Amino acid sequence: MSTIKITFPDNSVREFENGVNGIQISESISKKLAAEALAVEVDGEVWDMSRPINKDAEVKILKWQDDGGKYTYWHSSAHLMAEAIEEIFPGTKFGIGPPIENGFYYDIDMGDHAITADDLAKIEGKMAEYTQHDFPYIRKELSWQEAYDYFKQKGDDYKLELLEEHKNEKISLYKVGKFTDLCYGPHVPSTGRIKFIKLLNVAGAYWRGSEKNKMLQRIYGISFPSKKELDEYLYRVEEAKRRDHRKLGTELEIFLLTPKVGGGLPLWLPKGTIIRETLENFLRQEQKKRGYLAVVTPHIGNLNLYKTSGHYPYYKDSQFSPIKVENEEYLLKPMNCPHHFQIYAAKPHSYRDLPIRLSEFGTVYRYEQSGELNGLTRVRSFTVDDSHMFVRQDQLKAEVCDVIDLIQLVFNTLGFKDFTTRLSFRDPLNKEKYGGADELWDRAEREILEAAEEMKLNYKVAIGEAAFYGPKIDFLVKDVLGRTWQLGTVQIDYVMPERFNLEYVGSDGQKHRPVVIHRAPFGSLERFIGVLIEHYAGEFPLWLSPLQVVVMPITDAQNEYAASVVNKLKQAEIRVELDTRNEKINYKIREHELKKVPYMLIVGDKEKNSNSVSIRRHKKGDLGSQPLNEFIKSVTEEIENKKITS
Ligand SMILES: [Zn+2]
Ligand SMILES: [Zn+2]
Repeated sequence: MSTIKITFPDNSVREFENGVNGIQISESISKKLAAEALAVEVDGEVWDMSRPINKDAEVKILKWQDDGGKYTYWHSSAHLMAEAIEEIFPGTKFGIGPPIENGFYYDIDMGDHAITADDLAKIEGKMAEYTQHDFPYIRKELSWQEAYDYFKQKGDDYKLELLEEHKNEKISLYKVGKFTDLCYGPHVPSTGRIKFIKLLNVAGAYWRGSEKNKMLQRIYGISFPSKKELDEYLYRVEEAKRRDHRKLGTELEIFLLTPKVGGGLPLWLPKGTIIRETLENFLRQEQKKRGYLAVVTPHIGNLNLYKTSGHYPYYKDSQFSPIKVENEEYLLKPMNCPHHFQIYAAKPHSYRDLPIRLSEFGTVYRYEQSGELNGLTRVRSFTVDDSHMFVRQDQLKAEVCDVIDLIQLVFNTLGFKDFTTRLSFRDPLNKEKYGGADELWDRAEREILEAAEEMKLNYKVAIGEAAFYGPKIDFLVKDVLGRTWQLGTVQIDYVMPERFNLEYVGSDGQKHRPVVIHRAPFGSLERFIGVLIEHYAGEFPLWLSPLQVVVMPITDAQNEYAASVVNKLKQAEIRVELDTRNEKINYKIREHELKKVPYMLIVGDKEKNSNSVSIRRHKKGDLGSQPLNEFIKSVTEEIENKKITS
């Protein structure tokens, strides 16, 4: 006899006594709930609804809203797709078909046949047909040999290869319709649960991810319980394509990636440099107000620095190889910390000097495999808005609060309204993985929690996610498409001050170790601007816009007046261009709209005679005319307030 404790979706809890044959959850709950439930979590593992439970267990019912439910749904969709493929293309060999963050895929081997868009439509149609039949997903457990014989007879080489890794284990197969797959499960009860399906695309994928193996075809798809969710998803995919920073970055002349310079080494074009400098200046100003001291350090450093910090050789796979000069070795710096530590250590400090906050927009270099490189979000050289603060333990909390405040200011100013934080603490059961004294860790974690409460952060604690040198806070930002990006970070460090022998003299006249805080609100400027481009769809708020105003005379007769308007705007430090090309005015307007220029000023005789301008705002159209001085005043205000345009 065993007891099963079930937690229902409404969080109510009920206990069941278990019979000799175990309990099937699908039989033990109301019909209505059974129709909505997709799977069950049994002691943290996701199971089929109908799989008998023969032990004391804590059980949670999973619906579509739960991650476990969603992944079960998508994984079951992959089986359904395989079933349809086998029906339409008999003899196809199957690799693996897992759920992914959005949807599912299946790797298949069809010999020489390359899947076409037509094929995808056919498979999708067949899947829809099978959902109507409502085939159950039937689990069968059998011996290894039985499973081996089954796939051997079927000629499924890939499944045989997978089986080789599970010798002497009990094997489970799942049958849906006529298709049987080697699978650990779980699955939804039947194919009728899968309602709206879209097969998205086909890509090449090496079997088991190794280029030594055969290239298979990977079919990606997604499925949802409602048409609305499917449509919204497809809309987001289209929007993501439209907003892709690699495409917009080229069109708007923000950055350039060229093999002539090297993969992952972005060149900032004049327009992109304006965005970048504007962001840097914004942060510089805020940092000045908060007592940061700016420093500049070189791009390489003696290898010994990184041996001391432990970044070499432990992280050498993500760094460029050392450069030999005379009898010494240098490393392209993978981080700025050791350089800043040397600046701190260059002179003695008293407790009264702390906190000391050194800051630098420091470019660092990481080795990423060429296949991993992606626009501005995965690069080999990037600039960190870095700072290292050297504080006394009793100053830690106040300093962390100030950093959180700065990061909140940055995100709010840029229009990221939706962000959460993750407080990464050490695993108390695994203390030997972390450096630094026990009581310091306990205190730092407590103070981070207090700071998070004080600053009203929306936070989650992640146990075991801390860096080896101290606990940290990560900021997770949601963009307009609901995608989450990890941007700002704050890390407490007890280990590096020890390794670099950093000291200050306390009020007791004795030497003490400062605590180091590493922090970067943007993280990497490259990645941050990549995210910004997509978040704004290239329509930057006025203060960040590389070009803010274009002035266009209607005819040559107003060229001189237009030039004087441009001059006045320039004197007000507004970024402006004059467009006197011999083109129709409507053509020019269309062109500047495409380039997403925020303001267009059109000047004809009427404007010239009244010292005014006729204003067009990007996406809003004609705003009528205004005296030039008033326009300058309102635009200057919009820039100074860093107003977010929607
Ligand atoms: Zn499966
Ligand atoms: Zn650092």
